[in-house]
Amino acid sequence: MEQDYFFKVKTPNQVRDILKTVAKPLSSETINISDALGRVLADDIISPVDLPGFDRATMDGFAVRAKDTFGASSGSPAYLNLIGEIKMGEKATIKVSQGEAVKVSTGSMMPSGADAVVMIEWTEFFDDQTIEVIRSVAPGDNIVKKDEDLHIGEKLLDKGHILRPQDIGALAGVGITSVNVTRSPRVAIISSGDEIISPDQIPEIGQIRDINSYSLSALAKQAGGQPIIMGIVKDDYNILKAVMENALENADIAIISGGSSIGTRDVTIDVISSLKDAEILVHGISIKPGKPTIIAKVGDKYVFGLPGNPVSVMVTFEIFVGFLIRLLLGIKQPLYEPRYIKAILNRNIASAPGREDYICVRLIESDKGLLAEPVLGKSATISMMVKADGLIKIPLEYEGLEVGTEVDVYIFND
Ligand code: AMP
Ligand code: MG
Repeated sequence: MEQDYFFKVKTPNQVRDILKTVAKPLSSETINISDALGRVLADDIISPVDLPGFDRATMDGFAVRAKDTFGASSGSPAYLNLIGEIKMGEKATIKVSQGEAVKVSTGSMMPSGADAVVMIEWTEFFDDQTIEVIRSVAPGDNIVKKDEDLHIGEKLLDKGHILRPQDIGALAGVGITSVNVTRSPRVAIISSGDEIISPDQIPEIGQIRDINSYSLSALAKQAGGQPIIMGIVKDDYNILKAVMENALENADIAIISGGSSIGTRDVTIDVISSLKDAEILVHGISIKPGKPTIIAKVGDKYVFGLPGNPVSVMVTFEIFVGFLIRLLLGIKQPLYEPRYIKAILNRNIASAPGREDYICVRLIESDKGLLAEPVLGKSATISMMVKADGLIKIPLEYEGLEVGTEVDVYIFND
């Protein structure tokens, strides 16, 4: 029996490969750019216009023909005839001819004929109508050409890109006020266990407050999903099955935490296996914490059976559920968020080869650089996660890591 179970165990990389093969991006929806921060583009964005759309001054000063300033210096200024001013937001109708200058401000449209701007600092008024220029400018100096920022038809953003503040600004700049983004996966969260009570209740001896519904819900939100808390269910086949079916009607992913201990383990797997169109993809992963993890596909929905321990649940979410959410969002590479920081391990850590170990670490600044210190704790407790800044991974084949090793710390999101 145990032997049979062992053979089913997959490595974390095999699990990710399976998820990559089965998971397809969800459908898209159109939203206003004001709501689009952190959302994932469902289409490429092509600039529909030139930006800025007209030649524009980037300095306060005088629009001139660069040629007229060649050789100018404080000892031998160029004298130019001031023929007018272009105010901000105004269409430039004046034409600059040889020996002439027009006053402009940062952002003004450039008058035709002029090909550069002399900064105000390099000029003096000689009289009301004449300026002295004491430095030469080259054509193109202090102006931005009409399509220099973006030109019409240019790809501005790629499908699969996560929208950042600057991207949203650029969309506004080219007049795109709504975008197609991938729908956020709805993530139903079920906590199971006869001993689990709601956090607003007073536990009796033997009972514990539900941690996982809340930590998972927050993780789902951070990962770009929409959490739906389904509540606490008893370790009972029929109740669990009913709640699970309800969850899958309303969500793209259902996560059940708990039921990993021998005795109740079978309830979770039995319920998942009994769902219509269920296909068990993974049952057991060579990872610590998180070995009993179950992953199934049920039609076009996904079910995760995660161990109930609050640390295991968070680690397995970060590694596998977060990964699936990124696939469903259609996020382009890298699928792993670049949330790693290098640090030097300040203690030896032992590990059994044949499994990937995740260890909670705190980061400490020192004159030797950033140190990663394993958070000590009797067993995997939520306070370990609270004290930790991130996780380090001990790869599958290692028997541990030695003090002084450089490690990549996977940083928890704020
Ligand atoms: P299980 O996977 O059900 O065997 O649970 C493993 C450990 O995690 C047990 O000590 C449970 O009491 C605990 N646990 C399970 N679910 C939760 C939860 N929702 N919140 C806090 N602890 C939990
Ligand atoms: Mg339990």
